[in-house]
Amino acid sequence: MTDARAAAVSLARRLKEDGHVALFAGGCVRDRLLGKDPKDYDIATSATPAQVRRLFPGSNEVGAHFGVVIAKTKGHHVEIATFRTDGSYHDGRRPATVTFSTPEEDARRRDFTINGLFEDPESGELIDHVGGRADLAAGILRAIGVPAERFAEDSLRLLRAVRFAVTLDFEIDPATWAAMVEHADGLARIAPERIREEFSRILVLPNRARGLELLVASGLIRHFLPEVLALIGCEQPPEWHPEGDVFTHTRIMLGMLGEHAPLELCLAVLLHDIAKPPTQTFDPEAGRIRFNGHDALGAAMAEEILRRLRYPNDVIESVSFMVSRHMQFMNVQQMRVSRLKRFMAAPTFPLELELHRVDCGSSNGFTGNFDYLRGKRDEFASSPLIPPPLVTGRDLIALGQSPGPRFKDLLEAVQTEQLEGRLSDREAALVWIKERVFK
Ligand code: ATP
Ligand code: MG
Repeated sequence: MTDARAAAVSLARRLKEDGHVALFAGGCVRDRLLGKDPKDYDIATSATPAQVRRLFPGSNEVGAHFGVVIAKTKGHHVEIATFRTDGSYHDGRRPATVTFSTPEEDARRRDFTINGLFEDPESGELIDHVGGRADLAAGILRAIGVPAERFAEDSLRLLRAVRFAVTLDFEIDPATWAAMVEHADGLARIAPERIREEFSRILVLPNRARGLELLVASGLIRHFLPEVLALIGCEQPPEWHPEGDVFTHTRIMLGMLGEHAPLELCLAVLLHDIAKPPTQTFDPEAGRIRFNGHDALGAAMAEEILRRLRYPNDVIESVSFMVSRHMQFMNVQQMRVSRLKRFMAAPTFPLELELHRVDCGSSNGFTGNFDYLRGKRDEFASSPLIPPPLVTGRDLIALGQSPGPRFKDLLEAVQTEQLEGRLSDREAALVWIKERVFK
């Protein structure tokens, strides 16, 4: 038994000793049945929040009227929630009231059958009021009760449905799917932060490509990332892109990323060609489709999109930077050493190299630039790409120069010489400067 489970079992035992019903609920029951280690344990109980708090001094009540208490034992946090029925929903986000009730009613207010199971913490016996066990065995994600009502109550469930289906590789039951499509517009009522949270969780899953397809097919993506829909049917030159339109290209790339690809990389892949639709032109002379400037415009669009979804600034900056540079990978073999080293010194470079790998891999299959960069990375590995400067502004002042734009140019010029391997010590650098300044 894991420590987390042992901690949760002991809390449940204390509740029982005090005369209450206490059951494991939701995700932890589902995950154990799937043979996965639950990341946290939730207990559902007949004890009221006040009784729970009295039993576990030091525990905290969160969202008081929802009746959830967080208890801590041996470094593990366990959520203890009183069996409840949610009252009516007025805003598509949260119930107006909740009343404490029975295990069966508590199971019915949950979102999906596979999330509606209870388990006796000590005997491991399953208590299934919603048919969750059969759906779990069959690999089906199904809303509890009348699907349309459940999605109308709480629109966040629309994204949760996609996330669970993709995480578990489950099929969405046809009636549940139909209700999702019908109620997709409800997503407009959900705060961008909450949408972003679910969307990010979908995008980092190994099967993120299916996640994207489900978001498109259900109509959900229209409410938070409509720009992606314009990629569908955006034709590209077939000699470079035999795979098809920009959407297909992007989707294949998402599928080629590793299982643990970081969020920034997933977002950069999703958005790298986001400006192809608005920049698409047909060049009659060359007889081909072009997307001039789609990297720069794409960086601006990525920034606007990620800001709208309330991503943190560091994520916005990295993703937009990666989008802005993705076409430069075509020129790396023509870059001077100094330029190449500066290019490779960007903190995002390892992610960009991966973006480039899947960009080519999902289209023309070229590996020349990727192989070249990997070779250069090894070649440059023994010393820092950008070594400590040979001279500083203070040296220039000592030479009688006054700070200004020329100052910066001069220092950069010295660095260029250094990166090119033409200057390697301070004395030589000072001579080099004097030759230029005092000639
Ligand atoms: P995860 O592994 O993502 O944590 P989980 O099933 O534990 O999965 P939580 O978001 O932690 O999901 O919620 C715990 C339980 O609360 C769920 O299993 C489900 O029974 C219930 N639940 C959570 N959010 C909702 C919701 N929006 N509507 C109805 N029930 C919900
Ligand atoms: Mg959970």
